[in-house]
Amino acid sequence: MKTILGLRIDVDTNRGTRLGVPNLCRLFSRHRLFATFFFSVGPDNMGRHILRLLRPEFLKKMLRSRAPSLYGWDILLCGTLGPGPVIGERQRDTIASAAALGHETGLHAWDHHAWQTRIDRMDAKQVHTHLQKGCDMLKRITGRSPVCSAAPAWKCTDTVLEEKDRFPFSYNSDCRGETIFTPVVSGRKISQPQIPATLPTYDEIIGTAGVTDENYNDYIISRLRPGRLNVLTIHAEVEGVSRLTMFEDFMGNILSKKIDVLPLGELLINPLPGKTAVIVQKKLPGREGWVSVQDTGQDTGQDTGGKDKGKI
Ligand SMILES: [Zn+2]
Repeated sequence: MKTILGLRIDVDTNRGTRLGVPNLCRLFSRHRLFATFFFSVGPDNMGRHILRLLRPEFLKKMLRSRAPSLYGWDILLCGTLGPGPVIGERQRDTIASAAALGHETGLHAWDHHAWQTRIDRMDAKQVHTHLQKGCDMLKRITGRSPVCSAAPAWKCTDTVLEEKDRFPFSYNSDCRGETIFTPVVSGRKISQPQIPATLPTYDEIIGTAGVTDENYNDYIISRLRPGRLNVLTIHAEVEGVSRLTMFEDFMGNILSKKIDVLPLGELLINPLPGKTAVIVQKKLPGREGWVSVQDTGQDTGQDTGGKDKGKI
C-alpha cells in the first residue's frame, strides 16, 4: 500500500519567513513538489517567549532543543523591547512568491505570540479580529483569501472552530490526531473538516528517547504508515534554516522510497469520510501547556486534568 506524506510548513517569525521560506521553496522546486505554507503575517512578538524562561518547563525545553542555535538569538529577542515588526509588510515579496510558485497558502496567525498565550481567554470577537486581520493581510499579499488555516501551537477552542467556520477555509489543521474528520461543537457539526498533524515536531522529540540529529530522519520515516493519514509539520525557522541540511537529507530519503509528498489540501477526498470527532485538550510530551487533540476514544496523550480538562 502506498505511503503519502502531507507536508505543512509553519512560519512563525519574521526571520523564518525571510530565510526559511526561500530555502524551502528552492528545495521543493528542485524536487518538483508542493506543500502547504501556514504564514504568520502580523507583529512578530515571538521573542516574548524569552520572558517565560523563568518557567522551569519552558527552560527545560529551551535547553533540550538548544533553542538559541535552533532559532537564532534575533528570534528570541524579537518583540521584547517594543512592538515587533509586521511580518506581512516586511516579507511581502517572499510570501507572494511562495504562493506564486503554486504552494498552498494558509493562515497560521496574525500575532502568533498573543494567540498561543491568550487564546483560551479570547472571546468570539477577539478571535474573529485575529482571523480577519490575518486573512486580509494574506489577501493583500497574494491576491486571494487563504484557503486553509492552522491554529498556532495547536491551540484551538470551540470559539475558534465556530469563528473559523465564518471564513472561506476549505479545511483547517488545528490539532493532533489520526484521521481526517469533521469536528463537532456542542453537538453541531462544523462545516470545515480538520486535517490533523499525525507526527511530532522536531523540537518536541529531539533529545528524548534517544532521538538525535543523526537518527531524527530515520525516526520520522519509521513512523510513516502506508495507506493511512501522515501529516508532518516542519518550521521555516528550524528545517528551513538551522536544520536545512538535515531536512534536505530527509526529503531525498523519502522521495527515494517513492513516498508521495503533497500539500494538505490534496489529502481531502470527495466526498469526505463521515467520521466526526470532538477536539479535546491534552498535554503532549515535549510541548508546553495543552494542545488540541482529536478525541479518538484512545489515549494519545495525557489529560491535563483540572481546569484544562474537557471538551473544547
Ligand atoms: Zn507556529
